[in-house]
Amino acid sequence: MVSFIGAGPGDPELLTIKGKKIIDSADVIIYAGSLVNPQVLDGAKDGAVIYNSATMNLDEVIGVMKDAEAKGLKVARVHTGDPAIYGAHREQMDRLDELGIDYEVIPGVSSFLATAAALKKEYTLPGVSQTVILTRMEGRTPMPPKEKLLDLAQHNATMIIFLSVGMLEEMSEILRQAYRPGTPVAVVYKASWEDQKIVYGDLSNIAQRVKEAGIRKTALTVVGDFLGDEYELSKLYDKTFTTEFRKGVTE
Ligand code: SAH
Repeated sequence: MVSFIGAGPGDPELLTIKGKKIIDSADVIIYAGSLVNPQVLDGAKDGAVIYNSATMNLDEVIGVMKDAEAKGLKVARVHTGDPAIYGAHREQMDRLDELGIDYEVIPGVSSFLATAAALKKEYTLPGVSQTVILTRMEGRTPMPPKEKLLDLAQHNATMIIFLSVGMLEEMSEILRQAYRPGTPVAVVYKASWEDQKIVYGDLSNIAQRVKEAGIRKTALTVVGDFLGDEYELSKLYDKTFTTEFRKGVTE
């Protein structure tokens, strides 16, 4: 059995209890060493064999899983954040299907959620934005034609941009064509890690500020007026509003 585990954004205490139990009892651990905090493996049992997938290709990863399965060993495949977001675990699952190897997926706290926590902000403010777009800039992985950053930006929704902090100058130039110029932006480096850093700015100055802070990778860029202070109060906690669980009062 192979367990794909979302290891969370960095802080080892943000690993789920279920994920930790599987890591601690696994015979073989394959972890994405470029981003997963090695401390999430601290409870691994003596004798567990640990592989860093940063130096392995897909065939090698699958080879390790196949060998372990043949020996009846338990495999923990540890991905950063949640594997469903830029985790490249689909291609592994498909190969396991072909091989008839059983697997499960344990979700994790994605870095975009740890980023909101670090910022102490809510992505979905009434009257500001009720939509969150998770995306990236085009790098070696091309963007599908209808998902160009400029097209997505037209919505002025809350936007969270992965894998792209190295292209911040180009990114903010594109975003300025769709968001109003003073739209706030924050860049969160290593959310939830001990060396977490936050840089605030707007679409015209964020690239320079992030450069000055020396941030080049492992960061998310979040854009939108949710970072500001103007919004409407929610209906959910409005005292005059009746919900399924609570009767509203008339003022
Ligand atoms: N599956 C992961 C994302 C993997 S893609 C998740 O759910 O978070 C890798 C990108 O995620 C990085 O380039 C960076 O943009 C972002 N990232 C991962 N961990 C991060 C963290 N702790 N803080 C900020 N950004 C992070």
